[in-house]
Formats: sequence, C-alpha cells, structure tokens
Amino acid sequence: MKEILIVEDNPMNIETIIDLLEFSYECGVTKALDGKEAIDLLAEMKFDLIFLDMQLPKIDGLEVLNRIKKDPATAEIPVIAVSAHAMKENKEYFIEMGCEDYISKPIDVYRFMALTEKYLGEYRKDEEPQPKK
Ligand code: MN
Repeated sequence: MKEILIVEDNPMNIETIIDLLEFSYECGVTKALDGKEAIDLLAEMKFDLIFLDMQLPKIDGLEVLNRIKKDPATAEIPVIAVSAHAMKENKEYFIEMGCEDYISKPIDVYRFMALTEKYLGEYRKDEEPQPKK
C-alpha cells in the first residue's frame, strides 16, 4: 500500500483532503504537525509521497526538504511543497530547492488529487463495489 506523509502545522486545513484521500485511494496517510515530527517519522517509516508545508514550527520546511534530499534513504521520495504564497516565482523557487512540485494554499482539492495521481499512479479504488456472490 502506498504511504503518504502530510506535514502541516494547521491540521484543520487538511482534514477534508485527508478524508478524500483515504476515501479515493488505496493509501495510508500519516500526519506530522511540525518539522521535527516529520524528520522522526521519515526515519521510522517508508513513504511514497510527501506534502510539505514550507512554514513549519521547530524545523522549517526548507530544512526538512534539505534533510530529505541529502539522505539517500529518502532522497527519491517526491516532495510537494505547500505554501501560502501564491506568487508564480514561488513554485520555481521550491523546485529549484529540490521539490518535485508545488501547491499553493488554500489548497485546491482537484489539484491535490491530480498531484497525488501524478506521483503515485492511478490508485483509485473501484468506483462501484463488486457485488457479493
Ligand atoms: Mn504552516
């Protein structure tokens, strides 16, 4: 099963998205509320995709990103930067820093799902449950 790590210090922002993810995909979702928690989780678990809020307490998003990309155990995991600033140069900046992609806040659910599918492949559960025999 695919595992997604969502690093966000304001979980209210992402509850709906997590519900939707768990409903639509065959995946596990783990939340980290600050940079330190993210680093600790990355040392313990294997993840297939990371959504990383760039404004975080304790250890900032850029520092978390640097550690992910410097560690051979985690360097290959795609990281999607999440940031409140919707400026165009922001995307290029975070990609230059090593992120694979970027999504701005407030998060557009359709873009979020499209990014998940882009990096995890089509892992949608069957739309209709199989009839019981
Ligand atoms: Mn934040």
